[in-house]
Amino acid sequence: DWVALCRQVVSEWFSQLEQKQHSISIEGDEHLMVKADDFALRLLVSNLLGNAIKYTPAGGQIRLTLHTSRDKAVLAIEDSGPGIPPQEYPQVFNRFYRVGGDRHQFAVPGAGLGLAIVKDIVSLHNGSIYLAPAGFASGLKVTVELPL
Ligand code: ATP
Ligand code: MG
Repeated sequence: DWVALCRQVVSEWFSQLEQKQHSISIEGDEHLMVKADDFALRLLVSNLLGNAIKYTPAGGQIRLTLHTSRDKAVLAIEDSGPGIPPQEYPQVFNRFYRVGGDRHQFAVPGAGLGLAIVKDIVSLHNGSIYLAPAGFASGLKVTVELPL
């Protein structure tokens, strides 16, 4: 159940969410059954939520939306942070790629591996992943589709 899994991952990030005073919501379907490796799916949600938390300045908004669309289960994670320039969407899935390069490393630490791992998990599950601007004034929307 992808919804229950997302709720658990959100609770694992509770102290970081509270520390940054982000507000978070989970919207959409009550249950969403997907055939997936439990550990891999947790890592996927955790990497995406971790990015939303760390790249969004304090007091931000994060929204998870889960629903079915035809034969697909769809998770969208949106944040009200700075987002990613659309011309860099393809590159951020490359290993070690970080927007802004090395200088950025000092502001928000990271290896640049999270999204590369997420992309591998999505493709191993025959799913798709898309980036877009968030439905807030700014920010990133990451949409993951998996077969139901
Ligand atoms: P790691 O996940 O390995 O700890 P990381 O977060 O830098 O490090 P990725 O998760 O692969 O690596 O993300 C790649 C880059 O994409 C980030 O360095 C950041 O520049 C950008 N990025 C990812 N998610 C967001 C987001 N929600 N908002 C803004 N920029 C983001
Ligand atoms: Mg990351």
